[in-house]
Amino acid sequence: MAPRTGTGHLPLYEVPQVQSTKPLTPDETGPSWRTAGLRFYSYNHFIQQRFRRRVQKVSVDAGFTCPNVDGSVAIGGCTFCDNRSFSPSRRLPRSGILGQIDQSLARMRGRYPDCRDFLAYFQPATNTYGPLDKLRRVYAEALSHPQVVGLAIGTRSDCVGEEVLDLLAELARSHFVSVEYGMQTMHDRSLQWMNRGHDHASSVDAIERSRGRGFEIGVHVMLGLPGESRADMLATAREVARLRVDSVKIHNLYCVKKTKLAEEVAAGEVTLMGRADYVRTVVDFLELLPPDMVVERVTGDAPPDYFVGPAWSLDKGGVRQEIDAEFARRDSWQGKRWSEPTSASAPAGSL
Ligand code: SF4
Repeated sequence: MAPRTGTGHLPLYEVPQVQSTKPLTPDETGPSWRTAGLRFYSYNHFIQQRFRRRVQKVSVDAGFTCPNVDGSVAIGGCTFCDNRSFSPSRRLPRSGILGQIDQSLARMRGRYPDCRDFLAYFQPATNTYGPLDKLRRVYAEALSHPQVVGLAIGTRSDCVGEEVLDLLAELARSHFVSVEYGMQTMHDRSLQWMNRGHDHASSVDAIERSRGRGFEIGVHVMLGLPGESRADMLATAREVARLRVDSVKIHNLYCVKKTKLAEEVAAGEVTLMGRADYVRTVVDFLELLPPDMVVERVTGDAPPDYFVGPAWSLDKGGVRQEIDAEFARRDSWQGKRWSEPTSASAPAGSL
């Protein structure tokens, strides 16, 4: 799943606003996001299409841990993940799921006074890692909230057995459900570096087994992993395109305090990606994705109190503008360099 970068305080998840620096011509044919003047298929645009109204995500902490932390797969967790708060003994007491949602909605009311509907975002730790009856109970509790219209669930590819997928499919028959797998990269050497505890084949397997069950399939990808060249990152883009998942979240590798990555950055063993390099690479990446793949995010950050670097990551709005400007400079958009794969060109074992 996505890195846990805070401590006990869950941030509200805000659906990013995407603006083009140069609207495309109104008579342009193509995907609706292009005629709306966007350079890529933003999550906001998807939400508007899907729900015809504003829907915000609201983070929920159901008290899950992670097999990469509790020793089932590994200990220590991913290199970049601040997972200290996953331990039940260290977890701050929090209200129940309905209480968390109510508290978050109260905080969001001032900012989004017209928003009535929300997706419960099971965000910290691995949110399918637990007994089936617990999963059923916590998902049902979130969905019982009168303003919750669906679920977003972050998890690992090695934590979705058939019974879990059946449960998610069952929920997706009556509600919007999206499942986000922490793929991160297609390169196993990078997954080993980050102590991920699974390989890329595991991600492919989970995606294959998830397909056709009625819920949205998303992947989380990081750019700027140590040892990955631009060609390596674009190979991951082509792999995401080949897998034809419904959505992708992309951000640069960033560093928070009290992680192994923080030690490696301090020791000079890891250099974090620069801003201009990231902007160019993420545009390259998006050009290779199919135009119907939703791009949930293109930036990432953490609460400033816990953040180590790179500092430019905190300027999410500025980075977004630079990404749009780079698209405009190239007269380009998501999918410009994507082509429908033919069976002859698809790699062996492709979906
Ligand atoms: S898989 Fe576990 S250790 Fe890795 S980022 Fe997710 S929660 Fe953290």
